[in-house]
Amino acid sequence: MSIYDNVKRVREEIAGAAVKCGRSPEDILLVAASKRNSARRVREAVSAGVDALGENVARELAEKNAQGAYAGVPVHFIGHLQTNKVGGVVGVCSLIESADSERVLGAVARRAEIMGICQDVLIEINIGAEETKSGIPPGQLDSVLEYASGLSGVRVLGLMAIPPNSADVARARRYFDEMHRLFVDKERKMYDNVIMRYLSMGMSASFVEAIYSGSNMVRVGTAIFGERA
Ligand SMILES: *Cc1c(COP(=O)(O)O)cnc(C)c1O
Repeated sequence: MSIYDNVKRVREEIAGAAVKCGRSPEDILLVAASKRNSARRVREAVSAGVDALGENVARELAEKNAQGAYAGVPVHFIGHLQTNKVGGVVGVCSLIESADSERVLGAVARRAEIMGICQDVLIEINIGAEETKSGIPPGQLDSVLEYASGLSGVRVLGLMAIPPNSADVARARRYFDEMHRLFVDKERKMYDNVIMRYLSMGMSASFVEAIYSGSNMVRVGTAIFGERA
């Protein structure tokens, strides 16, 4: 299957899932997770009509950006961001999906202020409380949003999560549902500078279930590009 055919099929599956739960297919953004795929392959996904690209390593982002991989399409940062790498990401990525600490939020905000811009971010949640994963524990989210609401260089646009790896879809659903409850709860609290617009969850093996739980941004790699080298 070509990248073009894969994007078409993923789009159909997204649309099917959306309609099944009474939502509109256009409300769900498809982010192609393009890590370790060449600029040429990224361009194929762009031609097939993905909404955005997602990269998780600052150096790879810079290299492929220089090669014109992302021209005309927004690129999101979806990996753990080290504070000494924010310079290559802020202002290059339309959305940093993986803000996972106050330290990172502060560094992003300072950089954005110097550039005279406001950087859109999502807060990454460690929904499975996994030691190996980054992300903010749900119980600390209120204080992090409080902190972010005081930063002029960032605007929080929602939440992102990577639930524990599991072939068990029912188990994944529980984490997705928990994320949705968190999303709705924080939306209700109406923090300054925080707009709960995007709930980014669901990858190749789980995007249909994530959509059933209210995801409106899915990050799909393997199902579009095939197995990574
Ligand atoms: C690679 C990656 C994905 C996509 O994973 P697949 O299982 O290949 O679809 C999604 N989110 C993040 C943060 C990633 O790094």
